[in-house]
Amino acid sequence: MTFHAKFSGYADPALHAAGLYIGGKWQSGSGITVLDPSTGNLLAEVADAAIEDAQRAVDAADAAAARWRATPARQRSEILRRWYQLLTQHAEELATLIALENGKALADARGEVAYAAEFFRWYAEEATRISGEFRHTPSGSHNILVDHEPIGIAILITPWNFPAAMAARKIGPALAAGCTVILKPASETPLTAYAMARLGEEAGVPPGVVNVLTTSNPGGITNAMLADPRVRKLSFTGSTGVGRLLLAEAAKSVVSCSMELGGNAPFIVFDDADLEAALDGAMIAKMRNAGEACTAANRFYVQAGIHDAFVAGLTARMKSLKIGPGYDPETQCGPMITQNAVRKIDRLVSEALAAGARATTGGKPLTENGYFYPPTVLENVPVNASIAREEIFGPVAPVYKFESDDEAIRLANNTEYGLAAYIYSRDLKRAMKVGKRIETGMLGINRGLMSDPAAPFGGVKQSGLGREGGVTGILEFMEPKYYAVDY
Ligand code: NAD
Repeated sequence: MTFHAKFSGYADPALHAAGLYIGGKWQSGSGITVLDPSTGNLLAEVADAAIEDAQRAVDAADAAAARWRATPARQRSEILRRWYQLLTQHAEELATLIALENGKALADARGEVAYAAEFFRWYAEEATRISGEFRHTPSGSHNILVDHEPIGIAILITPWNFPAAMAARKIGPALAAGCTVILKPASETPLTAYAMARLGEEAGVPPGVVNVLTTSNPGGITNAMLADPRVRKLSFTGSTGVGRLLLAEAAKSVVSCSMELGGNAPFIVFDDADLEAALDGAMIAKMRNAGEACTAANRFYVQAGIHDAFVAGLTARMKSLKIGPGYDPETQCGPMITQNAVRKIDRLVSEALAAGARATTGGKPLTENGYFYPPTVLENVPVNASIAREEIFGPVAPVYKFESDDEAIRLANNTEYGLAAYIYSRDLKRAMKVGKRIETGMLGINRGLMSDPAAPFGGVKQSGLGREGGVTGILEFMEPKYYAVDY
């Protein structure tokens, strides 16, 4: 791994890991350039894994598997706990690293590191609580004993938008369950993944238990690993499009899949909502990570009586945000990840404007260096515009007016996605009744933020399969084994 001068001076050199991490060994290399999205300049260059590297990673994960699954839960737990402590200890350097390669504002990056670390703490605790079951058959013929066993080698594929948290949300439960893993981080943000692996090594994770591969050929490498009969799990977080491809590939060798895919979250504000609270929640739900979050509010449905005040309040708040590089401590809205991301947002906004929407602030990309799009509020957006169907993944808040509860529910459910939704109302009974009819895996009621390591995170419909976090997250990495016992 080579570093751009600006980057090398950023933090603790202990976090400067050197390329692919396979079987506890660092293998330097080049081929993947990491850019600073606030300038487009080169930040670092990291190794580009080939198919043979992936095969070696599976060999390493396999060689470590028997010993790791036999390691007492308390010991696995203590390693995870040390990893949590090290992440916490290095929080500031990691946050800077995330802000550099991902572009998010430092405050968001600090929040992400804390969130990521909590997955190690939570699963350090859960590792010691893996339970089984004992039942009698209804006929009385025998006894049913159910054990949970580690599922086997797991491939973990993560996106660029939460480079630390998405890795932690998979590694934590996988290791707690007794699995060995191969992490393939997004090539836009590999540095955070390598830094985390470096801390895992320091925490005492044995060689081969966690392996990390960056590659410019994710399809080729993943398909090769999925075809290896020793690989039994694929845990993917990313777009629904890539998720569909991987599900088809995993079907060939019937590999168990957990899928955390795209979202199109509705944010419903009823007339009886506390306006200030709804605006606070809207800013969090929309602007965390500058809108680059799968749970980001993508469609604001606001009831007619509160609509104009909500649009005015949201516009004032969005207009006041300071735009800049993520690592500048003053920044509240950083750049998008790539120029392509800016182009996509621009297309969605331009189409909405052409169809009759009005921008009350923002509305076109910034032309300076870097991949910036300004905080934008759109009103009078047609409900069938492409911006209502596609993930915006940027700082754009389209607002739609509605009249009745039934209309809000119909509009909210009019999507192939079902990851997150938000409702603001002072009437909790109404919010719960409406919430019951919303097709979603997660629902924030009078809250703009729902993510928590102790809660089951995941979606319905084409937003995914399975849940991460919470008490059930560990089961994604385990198989029940049934013993029919007579005695
Ligand atoms: P992406 O699907 O383009 O990439 C995700 C990961 O998959 C990356 O590591 C990428 O290199 C890899 N990948 C791409 N093609 C592949 C292939 N053919 N085989 C194997 N791996 C492949 O997504 P992205 O742009 O990195 O992330 C944004 C998307 O992720 C959004 O849709 C967002 O909603 C979603 N996301 C979902 C959650 C969730 O928990 N549901 C969380 C964060 C992000």
